[in-house]
Amino acid sequence: MSDPDYAIEAIGLTKTYRAVGKLPEMHALKEIDLKIGRGSIFGLLGPNGAGKSTFINILAGLVTKTSGTAKIWGLDIDQHPRSSRAAIGVVNQEIAMDPFFTPIQALELQAGYYGVPRSERRSIEILAAVGLEDKKDAYVRQLSGGMKRRLMVAKALVHTPPVLILDEPTAGVDVELRRSLWAYVRELHDRGTTIILTTHYLEEAEELCDEIAIISHGEVLTQEPTPQLLSRLDRRLLKITPHESLSAVPAALRGLDAEVTEDGTLVIAFRNSETGIGRLLDQVREAGIRVADLSTEQPNLEDVFIAMTTEAA
Ligand code: ADP
Ligand code: MG
Repeated sequence: MSDPDYAIEAIGLTKTYRAVGKLPEMHALKEIDLKIGRGSIFGLLGPNGAGKSTFINILAGLVTKTSGTAKIWGLDIDQHPRSSRAAIGVVNQEIAMDPFFTPIQALELQAGYYGVPRSERRSIEILAAVGLEDKKDAYVRQLSGGMKRRLMVAKALVHTPPVLILDEPTAGVDVELRRSLWAYVRELHDRGTTIILTTHYLEEAEELCDEIAIISHGEVLTQEPTPQLLSRLDRRLLKITPHESLSAVPAALRGLDAEVTEDGTLVIAFRNSETGIGRLLDQVREAGIRVADLSTEQPNLEDVFIAMTTEAA
């Protein structure tokens, strides 16, 4: 199969969960359009309840869409339910595993499910890659939460899918595992796998993803390359460590959005498009402050996210 332009292409994708008992019907996805480029590390970012898992689960075939279309690796999920799903490996948000299988058995079963011939199976290699080689014969119930998560990643890879989808992979995972998991995900990406992850950890998307879509209440608020998304928030912080420590903002700088932190750092917020940093520094020097050190900070996704969701509200 020739490589498609997009790893995932959703048009007008809609999901309404039916009312159950006292629960009203839920518009989890409202005509979502999303095109996810081949070869990217793509972040689907949004708060809890935004519709991220619903989107992933429709792709995975676990949730039936209400309307709209979706293509995986160029294959329509309605017309090609099996071959489209063969192009993705999905790591679900919830840890779900049969406690009575060992990791090696779990991988072999999964490979069988996908019809991977025995000669092409790479179970040991995959277990080694996720750091579970020495646990290959342990019972799954003896594995820690982090190990189970890694086993889920391993299971998603048995059929060597061109697209790996991770739904909140680091929720409830310790810092060390998070690091090793991301290192492995980056390695897969370097070898050509398209990565899609959902997260509500803003720093995570910022650090890992080259492109980000923000989703909230079942709608896509924006989809942009990460740097562009960050630059949309014009606000910058200039942090100055003065030679002689300050206890308050000097009178000459009171016209600025400035404050002195507990450790004596002078922090000035400014709009990049309005105030050049050179002019700002001139003002600081004119106020009699000798600069020992300085740094600037860009807004993080948290700021962007808050700005966008308040705009939309
Ligand atoms: P996210 O993964 O972004 O946290 P979800 O896709 O899990 O969001 O959920 C989106 C919305 O749909 C939420 O309001 C959630 O309560 C609702 N929802 C999710 N699954 C179901 C379901 N099986 N039945 C009814 N409502 C659901
Ligand atoms: Mg979710």
